[in-house]
Amino acid sequence: MAAKIIDGKILSEKVEAELKQRVDAMLAKGQKPGLCVILVGDDPASHLYVGNKEKACLRLGLRSETIRLPADATQEELEDAVRKANADPDIHGLLVQLPLPRHLNGAHALSLILPEKDADGIHDNNLGKLMRGEPGAIACTPRGALYMLKAAGVHIAGKHAVVVGRSNIVGKPMSMLLLHEHATVTICHSKTATLGEIPRQADILVAAIGQPRFITADMVKDGAAVIDVGMTRVDGKFCGDVDFGPVSEKAGYITPVPGGVGKMTIAMLMSNTIEAAERAFAAK
Ligand code: NDP
Repeated sequence: MAAKIIDGKILSEKVEAELKQRVDAMLAKGQKPGLCVILVGDDPASHLYVGNKEKACLRLGLRSETIRLPADATQEELEDAVRKANADPDIHGLLVQLPLPRHLNGAHALSLILPEKDADGIHDNNLGKLMRGEPGAIACTPRGALYMLKAAGVHIAGKHAVVVGRSNIVGKPMSMLLLHEHATVTICHSKTATLGEIPRQADILVAAIGQPRFITADMVKDGAAVIDVGMTRVDGKFCGDVDFGPVSEKAGYITPVPGGVGKMTIAMLMSNTIEAAERAFAAK
């Protein structure tokens, strides 16, 4: 039987409708949440993602600021931009669009973001809180992916979840979130020797590697919930890490690309920013 599609467009619209009410309530009190994105260089995909973030801010009524730096920006210029946004009381969420040009020390620049303004949930403090299961900003993509599983009614506790990919922004936080939901979690990566075998054991399979159609139907268990995080441009179109057609004939649930996790990532970025603004205004 064909898998149930977990539709990121429908779910993100639901999240945004709820967020819009919260923003409207803040605006009525003269409080306007603000998101600042620091964008370095000319990477077309990054420009597209930043444009989508600006559009989401506009839809929800958030202040949106983009600090654009040239591809040859210095570390000092990048860090000055972070400090400027940190100091701006009208900015509640701040992120540095990744990837950065190779000559820049991204880890150091990210560490300067105030944890309370960390819209991407990847500051060391927030990652530490995630590890301990304490409240804090959660990386947008894993947060969105977990939301999709729950919205689809997928049972997580006691299930075997396999996450393919171990990046700090997707794979590792995704694994930790699933662990907190009481899944038994296996993490695979490029050095995993038995990659053909492990995903097949998954009740929940999350693919976050950036290799188009890498996860084929023979790597998927019947009825599994398959979350496709991958987004790679192939012939001008976005392609996921999952071979969607054949896998959707075998899986129980599947997210499409496009129209899946990507939509939820933006919705969760808005959510992180609005939550940060609510905390900031409550503390005044
Ligand atoms: P990274 O490049 O930072 O990490 C990729 C991970 O995948 C690494 O852990 C790497 O292993 C692993 N990997 C790569 N190739 C293979 C392979 N052949 N077999 C097994 N593991 C492999 O990428 P990100 O985590 O940032 O992003 C992953 C994908 O998700 C990309 O396509 C990206 O565009 C997409 N993405 C989508 C988002 C969305 O909103 N939908 C948001 C963020 C990312 P190792 O550590 O051993 O090198």
